[in-house]
Amino acid sequence: MGGGHAARGIEATGPRHYDSPIATGQDLNRRLRELPSVEELASRLADLPRRLAVEAARGAIDARREELVSNGGAGSDRTSDGSDAATLETAARARASAAARPSLRPVLNATGVILHTNLGRAPLAVGALEAAVSVAAGYSTLEYDLGRGARGSRQDHVEGLVCELTGAEAALVVNNCAAAVLLAATALGTGGEIAVSRGQLVEIGGSFRVPEVVEASGARLVEVGTTNRTRLADYERALGSETAAILRVHPSNFRTVGFVEEASIEELCELGRRAGLPVIDDAGSGALVERIAELADEPPVRRSVAAGCAVVCFSGDKLLGGPQAGLMAGTAAALARCRAHPLARALRIDKLSLAALEATLRLLRDPEAATREIPVMRMLLAGETELDARAQQMRAALTRAGVAAEVERGSARMGGGTLPLLELEGPVCALSSEDVDIEELAVRLRAGEPPVIARVAEGRLLLDPRTLDDEAAELAAGAVVATLRRV
Ligand SMILES: *Cc1c(COP(=O)(O)O)cnc(C)c1O
Repeated sequence: MGGGHAARGIEATGPRHYDSPIATGQDLNRRLRELPSVEELASRLADLPRRLAVEAARGAIDARREELVSNGGAGSDRTSDGSDAATLETAARARASAAARPSLRPVLNATGVILHTNLGRAPLAVGALEAAVSVAAGYSTLEYDLGRGARGSRQDHVEGLVCELTGAEAALVVNNCAAAVLLAATALGTGGEIAVSRGQLVEIGGSFRVPEVVEASGARLVEVGTTNRTRLADYERALGSETAAILRVHPSNFRTVGFVEEASIEELCELGRRAGLPVIDDAGSGALVERIAELADEPPVRRSVAAGCAVVCFSGDKLLGGPQAGLMAGTAAALARCRAHPLARALRIDKLSLAALEATLRLLRDPEAATREIPVMRMLLAGETELDARAQQMRAALTRAGVAAEVERGSARMGGGTLPLLELEGPVCALSSEDVDIEELAVRLRAGEPPVIARVAEGRLLLDPRTLDDEAAELAAGAVVATLRRV
């Protein structure tokens, strides 16, 4: 943490340069009395919307009052910025512009974590963005059949594409993969038992825990086998007259090694066929584009469909590289049950995500186009030359501004609970400073506009070119320079 650099400079600035540390209670009272009223200060912000001006004025005055009280009235009336009144106005304006700024806004992801869940997972392909914008801006064929001039289904826009890409008979898309699993388990399992391997009773994150999802579906969980080994014979023993479905869950965000065994999806589907039971496969991310070596550790959706799963569930905004969505691909019979369940309406996908999803699926029809145009794919497969050029571009921009930076080896990750073992080695731009604490610099970068989210390792700040395109890399380096100048 911080690499032991003294926090010089960065904390020594700010608006408070008090010249008289000793004060009396009378000073304090006088200064408190001299604070303007909210109304007075707000009237100086007349160019702003009234409500915003009043809130900002109140906030600035309250903050100043607290500051005076906690300093016991010490400090001058004048700050280095000028009169107290002018400072208060500046502070109020800063508050107003912060309050007017959207809370949900873009950031620059310099972490090298491609599917950073907290930063919104997959950035969309240009075509997907355009599709969402054009549908959002007006009316659309969301649930309208142009040929018949009558009501259609929102699923019609994507079902054929999902079937084509997965080999499935039928498909349904919902809000996210968690919703897809809940819907499949509820539609196929309620009132009965769902059999799950003990090795797959996992937590995916954000409170998605397989035992709880099964419980919420109204089915009873039957645990099969052991944590490290579950054989087909264990499933055979666990099935009974109450069994409604078998659930297989991909342990997305971890791997077990050593004395480990799980029944294959083909074995489970064969067992399901013999017992007359549907198999639900929660593939999590799932791989749609095959033959990409980096994705070898994710279950191919096509394989699960071909094995005969009733429903395969996977996410729209993980390796697929699209918007938040939950895709369900499987048999016509199972999907008809899912579609008819009341939860399907509650969990349905919205039109903006649907538009972006359709466009992303269209790109995925051509794996070449997909790897070129879907940002997640592009970042995953980015070559050494491209990454190095971008890292050098950042280093050069920093060096020109007098900031010591170098290009060295680093390791990016897929993130989003996918491919936990995959280390994407590559160049990163690393900077250190004698003058500022690096942790403090990272904090300041997050507070900037646009905010830059960077990793700190061994006292250096790392800017990973894998998750920054050329423009973002330039902005990130510029933000570092501007932040250090302000110190
Ligand atoms: C990520 C994941 C989910 C949840 O997917 P969301 O699209 O985030 O709802 C469910 N199951 C598995 C196995 C996952 O990896």
